[in-house]
Amino acid sequence: MDNELSIENLHVSVQGQPILNGINLNLKQGTVHAIMGPNGSGKSTLAYAIMGHPGYEVTQGKVWMDGTDLLELEPHERSRAGLFLAFQYPTAIPGVTLANFLRHSVSNIRNPVRKEGEELISMREFRKELREEMKALDMDPGFARRYLNDGFSGGEKKRAEILQLSMLRPRFAVLDETDSGLDIDALRIVSDGVNRLMGPEMGVLVITHYQRLLDHIKPDFVHIMFEGRIVESGNSELALKLEEKGYDWIREKYPEFEKNASQKPVEQSSPVTG
Ligand code: ADP
Ligand code: MG
Repeated sequence: MDNELSIENLHVSVQGQPILNGINLNLKQGTVHAIMGPNGSGKSTLAYAIMGHPGYEVTQGKVWMDGTDLLELEPHERSRAGLFLAFQYPTAIPGVTLANFLRHSVSNIRNPVRKEGEELISMREFRKELREEMKALDMDPGFARRYLNDGFSGGEKKRAEILQLSMLRPRFAVLDETDSGLDIDALRIVSDGVNRLMGPEMGVLVITHYQRLLDHIKPDFVHIMFEGRIVESGNSELALKLEEKGYDWIREKYPEFEKNASQKPVEQSSPVTG
């Protein structure tokens, strides 16, 4: 279907271990879906699988975007097709400035047939746009000269992710939110940025552990992920219920899924957990 990111019966394994056990989700442009769920339920795994991380093996199911089979594409091709992922833990790239990184990304996204070494978007045009977007995000212009995520604070990393989002203007954005350590200011940066960019041309999948982000970004739909499955779907009231009651009622309601959990190693210290 057009104007839609659709995920059908998606099964994903990491190092031979099944993590996602049949995810179904339809995200239309112009809507915001939130995925919530306890740590280790597979939220980041879903984000990585949609983007095409090579360590996350799709063993069954389909992912389509605007009628294109995403699973056939490399990550950079998915990006050129209009998909964007804001990382839960953005990687530092010392030696590459934020500005240079963005100029290359923007050039490649807006000119999908561009080959490496070919002309970039004009410096004047790029600078002007970058300045405007940074201003809207309340970022110091000098920030663009720093190396990407190198020594950035948590809030600065989030700003940099949202700056990418605003420069690239994807059709579908997956925002894998840092659950802990995001202070109120950083939350506001993310949510104001998303709200400013939100429109009929963009669909957003917000992944978050806490309800409070959803006080700022109003989701049209809320899904609860538990042990690699979406076990509940509803509107924003579902998020309020989680805020009030936590996740215990989910564990009690779906004990048959939890059994799988006890057989599986949980790596709480892994950087992709949480
Ligand atoms: P969430 O984002 O909901 O906290 P994750 O998708 O990060 O959950 O993790 C789901 C499960 O998959 C956890 O048990 C985690 O240990 C496992 N997992 C995810 N990525 C990896 C990886 N790269 N290596 C090993 N285990 C992983
Ligand atoms: Mg996660």
